[in-house]
Amino acid sequence: MLSISEIFLSLQGEGPMIGYPALFIRFAGCPAPHCSWCDTPYAQEITAGRVLKPEQIFAEIEALLRKTKGWQTLPLLVLTGGEPFAYWSEEKSNFVTKLSEFGFSIQWESSGRVPIPSGIPGSVVCSPKFFDGTWRFVPENEDRIDAYKFVVTSKEDMPEIVAFLALYPGRNTPAYLMPEGSDKISQEKRGPMVAALALQYGLRYSTRLHILLENLDRQGHQK
Ligand code: SF4
Repeated sequence: MLSISEIFLSLQGEGPMIGYPALFIRFAGCPAPHCSWCDTPYAQEITAGRVLKPEQIFAEIEALLRKTKGWQTLPLLVLTGGEPFAYWSEEKSNFVTKLSEFGFSIQWESSGRVPIPSGIPGSVVCSPKFFDGTWRFVPENEDRIDAYKFVVTSKEDMPEIVAFLALYPGRNTPAYLMPEGSDKISQEKRGPMVAALALQYGLRYSTRLHILLENLDRQGHQK
């Protein structure tokens, strides 16, 4: 049984595959301590999800895929959370292997706060979390990550981000800066400042499309 917060179609809102039509599976559960700015507080507790058997999840995926019949491509499959690598089990591992047999391109969204299991299919986008004066990151994850995303509130965040990238450069892993804020007004307010920081530091910039397009509902339709 797996604890699932939500399954939905939308556009990938941030990072290297921004704008891709995607099917999201959000696993419930993220180990404490939690980030004060968390934009998915409803998925923090493992008990907050629907407890489903893999076959029930596949049935929901198939129902959503029927809605994508007219699409040019299979959606990107985004496995997110919560923290999708937390509460790892053989059942979760087998579930993911079966998912990859659908032919999806898989993208994981992780904080890097728990070990990333070996042999998982797909690419890993990591958004490291800094709080209480330290990065919450498992150093062994460094080489398993395909891209970093950093949430930026102000230019004062940059020294810690630069220090993180010096410590964990990975395979010259690309890094994106994204404006902090879970509403359109804060995104529009911080966006230009964060874009200017990306240019100043030679990093990449990602907007947060799902927040800017706040009238896009979970089924990818205009509200
Ligand atoms: S790691 Fe992610 S899911 Fe967990 S509390 Fe922080 S922002 Fe929320």
